[in-house]
Amino acid sequence: MFVNRLIVGLMPLMPRGIVKLFSKRYIAGDRIEDAIATCAHLKNTGFETTLDILGEAISTSTEAAASRDAYINLIQTVSHHPVSKNISLKPTALGLGLDPQLALDNIRAIIQVADEHGFFVRIDMEDSPYTTKTLNIYNTLRQEFPRIGVVIQAYLHRSDADVKAIAATNGNLRICKGIYKEAHDIAFQDKDGVRENYLHLVKTMLKSGAYVGIATHDIYLIDTLEAFIHDQAIPPEKYEFQALLGVPIEARLARLREAGHTVRIYVPFGEQWYAYSSRRLRENPDVAGYVIKNWFKFGQ
Ligand SMILES: Cc1cc2nc3c(=O)[nH]c(=O)nc-3n(C[C@H](O)[C@H](O)[C@H](O)COP(=O)(O)OP(=O)(O)OC[C@H]3O[C@@H](n4cnc5c(N)ncnc54)[C@H](O)[C@@H]3O)c2cc1C
Repeated sequence: MFVNRLIVGLMPLMPRGIVKLFSKRYIAGDRIEDAIATCAHLKNTGFETTLDILGEAISTSTEAAASRDAYINLIQTVSHHPVSKNISLKPTALGLGLDPQLALDNIRAIIQVADEHGFFVRIDMEDSPYTTKTLNIYNTLRQEFPRIGVVIQAYLHRSDADVKAIAATNGNLRICKGIYKEAHDIAFQDKDGVRENYLHLVKTMLKSGAYVGIATHDIYLIDTLEAFIHDQAIPPEKYEFQALLGVPIEARLARLREAGHTVRIYVPFGEQWYAYSSRRLRENPDVAGYVIKNWFKFGQ
């Protein structure tokens, strides 16, 4: 709707308090306690989770070390609670934009602690200047630690080769459409092209027997892949469905869970919520209208 797009366009001019109101549904809160409470609630309703500390590109190695320490603290704190032992992290928050070796060292330090506490670590994928560097970090650390995975974006032309290479090593992938703006020469721009490639990549993983996280809210993709899993008798321990906290497809996710599929919710939290929220709102401006409607309801 035009009004919702207008609201999203005006976001940079809005007070942060107002933007926070729009974004509340996508974020578990500012503190670890908020995130654990959200994960515990989801666990009680049958959903697995992965925790993400909000924060993106940093500009000094001190900031990268602070992100690393925040993740180590998160693992140590969460390990005392009956919630999923699973985290997701962004390499640029750990120094990838400054120096790949710095990012590797920081991510290795996190995974070392994660491994000691029985956690799985997912390395998120960011924009294309980081794709090869991120895969290099994954490939290096995968030789040292079994419980890690990375992300492949279906909009990139290179992803077919990347998926085949990772499937051949029995690696662990989350496959998503991809959220960054990428150029024509490296990425599909049309919705159907991305969808078709998405199906191709997930099916490649499922057929290979390597583990895949099917991360999408696109009901057509979820329906098609659920049918494929059924037809091919893919065992449940080889895949999971994944969704972002707050995306309004709860009923479909509940049906997946009731059908016996693992469903994992990506739960971001932390003080740096602004960039993440802006991306989510740009992705679906209708959420702005949804929030305003609820806002006026509360005011009545
Ligand atoms: C668990 C998970 C992890 C991810 N990790 C990464 C990553 O590491 N790197 C990366 O580049 N991208 C990541 N993404 C984002 C992904 O690339 C897509 O941008 C995003 O999921 C939207 O694509 P879609 O497949 O849901 O399809 P779309 O066609 O975009 O959406 C399908 C339907 O869901 C609705 N929808 C989608 N997003 C929202 C939203 N935020 N709020 C409300 N409705 C929405 C749409 O309006 C549409 O109706 C991740 C997504 C998920 C689910």
